[in-house]
Amino acid sequence: MSIRFCKKLFLILAFVFLFSVNVFANNLPDNDIVILYTNDVHCAVDESIGYAGVKFYVDEMKKLTPYVTLVDAGDHTSGGVIGVISNGRYLIQIMNETGYDIAIPGNHEFDSGWAVFENYIKNLKCGYLACNLIDLKTGKPILPAYKILNYGDTKIAFVGVTTPSSVFVCLKAVKFYGRRRKFYIRFVRRC
Ligand SMILES: [Zn+2]
Repeated sequence: MSIRFCKKLFLILAFVFLFSVNVFANNLPDNDIVILYTNDVHCAVDESIGYAGVKFYVDEMKKLTPYVTLVDAGDHTSGGVIGVISNGRYLIQIMNETGYDIAIPGNHEFDSGWAVFENYIKNLKCGYLACNLIDLKTGKPILPAYKILNYGDTKIAFVGVTTPSSVFVCLKAVKFYGRRRKFYIRFVRRC
């Protein structure tokens, strides 16, 4: 998504309760599975509830059930001063401190080029998932496609799919080319 359209969507926090409950009534039954996610944060670390609010909320949920998972669906490292001055590095650090379990790269994770993205991969503790990001030299996926988490007897698979148009819409798309101007990364549209 473009920054212009999705900036307003920062820190959308959604709650998926696999067993329908009213969390605000504080009556979450033990061992329910809670999946919280953010997307299109775009460096808005202090806006809305901010990452501090996300962390607080995760911690509160963990008092009610051990099965809490925090997911980011992409576009976290680019779109604000803190991202620009650190090439996105500070956002990765903040996400590590917030305690994300799953992260998917959005198209703006590639804004500063491939080498910078590789640095994100190296430093993001939970790692990234993407089933459609292929190294053309090896023909193999660059990132794990999915992660299966266990919640007692229940297993849930989280599958990562990154934006296929990343290679065209990110600010430095030229970084996806090798010396001979051939793509060396491919974003598969179907997986
Ligand atoms: Zn976005």
